[in-house]
Amino acid sequence: MNSMNKRYPILATKKNCTGCMACVDACPSGALCQFINDEGHYTFKLDKEICVNCLKCESTCPIVSKIDYGNNDLSTPVYAAWSCNKELRKKSSSGGAATAISEYILKQGGVVIGATLDGSNCRHISIESISDLPKLQGSKYMQSDACGAYKQTLQYLREGRRVLFIGTPCQVAAAINFVKNPKLSENLFSLDMVCGGVPSLFIRDRFISESGKKIKAIDSFRNKDKGWKSKGFTYQLKVVNDRNEIEVIHEKNLLLDGFVSELTNRYSCYDCQFVYINRKSDFTIADFWGDTFFRDEHKEGLSSLAVHTEKGKVLLAEIKNQNIKIKQTSWDKVLPYNFRYVYGHSLLKHLPQRKYLNWIFNHCLYETLCSFYAGDVTFKKPIGIVLKVMRKITIIINRKKSEKFIYNLLNK
Ligand SMILES: Cc1cc2nc3c(=O)[nH]c(=O)nc-3n(C[C@H](O)[C@H](O)[C@H](O)COP(=O)(O)OP(=O)(O)OC[C@H]3O[C@@H](n4cnc5c(N)ncnc54)[C@H](O)[C@@H]3O)c2cc1C
Repeated sequence: MNSMNKRYPILATKKNCTGCMACVDACPSGALCQFINDEGHYTFKLDKEICVNCLKCESTCPIVSKIDYGNNDLSTPVYAAWSCNKELRKKSSSGGAATAISEYILKQGGVVIGATLDGSNCRHISIESISDLPKLQGSKYMQSDACGAYKQTLQYLREGRRVLFIGTPCQVAAAINFVKNPKLSENLFSLDMVCGGVPSLFIRDRFISESGKKIKAIDSFRNKDKGWKSKGFTYQLKVVNDRNEIEVIHEKNLLLDGFVSELTNRYSCYDCQFVYINRKSDFTIADFWGDTFFRDEHKEGLSSLAVHTEKGKVLLAEIKNQNIKIKQTSWDKVLPYNFRYVYGHSLLKHLPQRKYLNWIFNHCLYETLCSFYAGDVTFKKPIGIVLKVMRKITIIINRKKSEKFIYNLLNK
């Protein structure tokens, strides 16, 4: 670059940074590093002394580069889907569609890059063997640290391997942007999920240090032991205690109920820019809530699976009935029960619990946090009740807005 044109990169702001961390992977000089900001979310720091002004970070960032991630084309095929492997399906969060596709890629000698739990951290790893699949299975309701995953993806593609990259929509957009090279992209398969947003890591930290439980690691966030849907379904937190036993947390808790409340989400999640029916990823998975046609499958778990690309359609045809069962369905059966496929906005960002998150976490006792963010009703102070009512009203308005959006979309 001409030295006259030298400038520092203009990167995402606190309000729109997704924490995907692709900018850190893109930086050739080590000028960018990851850190956790004052609201408990991953973000980046730029050292201008080391920056070589290459602007690779800018062109990789899915926000700043304004990646065109999709559209709402209703002709995109969508299926009810479940894994043919009963054992694997049991450990998956819904029907195990992500795991069935992973299984096939691994059988073909490919690599799968996805999120695992490592102690109380969630981070992206690569796996090359089917015996490692359980490491990736199950939804971890916290942001995965994806630093290094994009470099690794590119490295495997350069070695001529097939890679399946699995992540939240912002992470998948980042991976696609990172690879860029169309020839290498031919071997890149990507799978994103319907994502309601990622919570602050502060809720995990305070839960572990102050809940009174002796927690060595997080085991899982969901439990299908009693089935997946209707009466059987539960979000259920399981932890590994100091005696190395799996302990089920039955009571309301800051980690899981704090995720469900969506009150500590990243700001970018309240205006997600990656929600579309038809996406740049090859596949999108979600829970198939609202289904009434495949009741026999509800006990074991049912995914909805959208297929966006020709490459995705070919792969699905190859694995159909071997790794995965699929039955075509339609968007009017999926969207009304899962608005986050297409509607990424939330007014929760305006509530005082969210706006003053940093102050509240610095000044309030654990029981107050449980009341403000996890709906614990044992805290009877008027402020707790007022905030709870405000949240309820906001959720009703959000629901109305999303219903209107979906109605217009399906009836246009
Ligand atoms: C933060 C978050 C929010 C979600 N919100 C919704 C929602 O609002 N509505 C809905 O229908 N579904 C949501 N999902 C998806 C849903 O929970 C299930 O992940 C999905 O239905 C599981 O499908 P499966 O059985 O095929 O996956 P499994 O076979 O269980 O595999 C899960 C896959 O997800 C990946 N994964 C798990 N946790 C993370 C993470 N934190 N970051 C990146 N990748 C991860 C793993 O790598 C794995 O490959 C969310 C998932 C996450 C992680």
